[in-house]
Amino acid sequence: MTTKEEWIEKDLKYVWHPDTQMKQYEGNDFKPTLIVRAEGIYLYDIDGNKYIDGVSSWWVNTLGHSHPKLNKVLTRQAETLEHVLLADFTHIPAIELAQKLVQLAGEPFSKVFYSDDGSTAVEVALKMAYQYWYQKGKPEKKYFVSKTESYHGDTLGSVSVGGIDIYKKIFNPLVFETLKVNAPYCYRCPKNKEKDSCATECIENVENLFQNRHKEIAAMIVEPLVQGAAGMRMYPSCYLSKLRTLCDKYDILLIDDEVAMAFGRTGKYFAFEHAGIKPDIFCVAKGITAGYIPLAATITTDKIYNAFYDDFSTLKTFYHGHSFTGNPIACAVAVENLKIMEQENIIEKLQPKIKKLKDCTEKFKTLKHVGDVRQTGMVAAVEMVKDKQIKEPYPFTDRIGHKVFKEAMKNGALLRPIGNVIYFMPPYVIKNEEIEKLTEIAYNAIKIVTEMN
Ligand SMILES: *Cc1c(COP(=O)(O)O)cnc(C)c1O
Repeated sequence: MTTKEEWIEKDLKYVWHPDTQMKQYEGNDFKPTLIVRAEGIYLYDIDGNKYIDGVSSWWVNTLGHSHPKLNKVLTRQAETLEHVLLADFTHIPAIELAQKLVQLAGEPFSKVFYSDDGSTAVEVALKMAYQYWYQKGKPEKKYFVSKTESYHGDTLGSVSVGGIDIYKKIFNPLVFETLKVNAPYCYRCPKNKEKDSCATECIENVENLFQNRHKEIAAMIVEPLVQGAAGMRMYPSCYLSKLRTLCDKYDILLIDDEVAMAFGRTGKYFAFEHAGIKPDIFCVAKGITAGYIPLAATITTDKIYNAFYDDFSTLKTFYHGHSFTGNPIACAVAVENLKIMEQENIIEKLQPKIKKLKDCTEKFKTLKHVGDVRQTGMVAAVEMVKDKQIKEPYPFTDRIGHKVFKEAMKNGALLRPIGNVIYFMPPYVIKNEEIEKLTEIAYNAIKIVTEMN
């Protein structure tokens, strides 16, 4: 039998991990955790220790690990039809899922374009938006507007519209030019307003830009309500409704990147529902298969679709397709996921848990080094600061979040941080007493790391 140590040695020898400085990972700073199985909200390592999956394994798991119904559908689909190309061919899971997504999103959505992950769903949206204007006779509408500190994926197109230095700066010579507007950041509001009473005055920089350059702008792309990778920065829904109004006024498409927030994470199926608006194009991925298999979709309306629909000779085809587009196993699992969400009233049952999460994170505000506690649906975030009075951030190289993460792991909770932000984004099936336990572990870890060292 291969021992744990031997597996870890092989891991270090062969696997290059994502978002990881391998030299540090190799050192004594933090040994990799070898997970061998998972069930419900728990991950189990090779020594039998269990951890609450506080971040839903990178924001994807919604119904818990190893769900009996999803396991069954996955196995059955693998035995029936594991894959077939989606150009000139089709299959029932792809059809069923597309219909379901269109029904859930409501009018005017009508068409679903599949891909494999959030980044590619964004690539598809950007190319679709540009080609739309091109075919409408406006090829000069070629710029995309996005927010500072935005995150839309790691492929070059999605990095182009991104705004976080660590993902982008090195690649600046390679990415295409985009236009940036300042993102709302309620904790450090540039207008000194309070989140609950503001009228999102900070949106004025968007209007200024649109006014000046709308003739060259194809689309605005946004993360709705929560800028995840920026550190779970949250903004009020009226910002989104104002964006919709501005996009309409200046004839700019609105692309809504729901990759992290769709399928209940905000307390509704889609985050745009909170604002009572409909984007022109929206992207979904994380959560679509309840965290089982990569799958993504870019969903749009007949307005966009019809600009591509013509005789072959007009060359208006959307030439984009990945090998695994609309994989049947992934689609079948996604269909089952949405069925469970509906039949078991998952979103309704989430509401008291959202409240519980709020109650449990309230007391973090009293900690000496906690500057902000914020929440949107089933995402709560705690921003740690070196000096609370002046909101002075901890230096990036202090890795304060990472220290809290390590401390929490010792006590059975996976809370992988983003810089100075510790956040809770557990699977929806977490129970109230488990929310208590998860937040308690985090509270103590933050206290130990920030007050006792
Ligand atoms: C994670 C994420 C992406 C990228 O999705 P991947 O599946 O990791 O490629 C894009 N947009 C947002 C908002 C995300 O959170």
